[in-house]
Amino acid sequence: MAYDNDNIFAKILRGEIPCDKVHETEHALAFRDIAPKTPVHVLVIPKGAYVDAADFNARASDVEKIGFWQAVHETTAIAGVDGSGFRLTTNNGASAGQIVFHFHVHINGGRPLGGGKQPKGE
Ligand code: AMP
Repeated sequence: MAYDNDNIFAKILRGEIPCDKVHETEHALAFRDIAPKTPVHVLVIPKGAYVDAADFNARASDVEKIGFWQAVHETTAIAGVDGSGFRLTTNNGASAGQIVFHFHVHINGGRPLGGGKQPKGE
């Protein structure tokens, strides 16, 4: 899938629509999910144009990758879940539940999240 410059996170990066910003670095922006599933629900996105995790992993430079994951690490502390536990999730592709096609990682926490939520086998 080609990257769509008009996806909602591209508009947030360009400042065309607002976000509830948590953290920003040279390589990443973190903001609160508009429909939080947990008391802490923050999204971290790279500043580069990548459709999903596979696209980011394949095409981003080492500097972008390190910068992105460092920003995820810093955001867990800023959001206050580094000590209490958190879940990192990325949905890669529509069949995995991805609805915004700019790579992002969900940080969920702020309450006990229960056991692993792996899909069951057929
Ligand atoms: P995903 O299913 O992984 O693509 O998740 C996309 C997430 O983006 C969902 O949890 C939405 O609630 C969230 N979202 C959509 N639009 C916005 C927005 N304008 N600001 C913050 N979060 C948003």
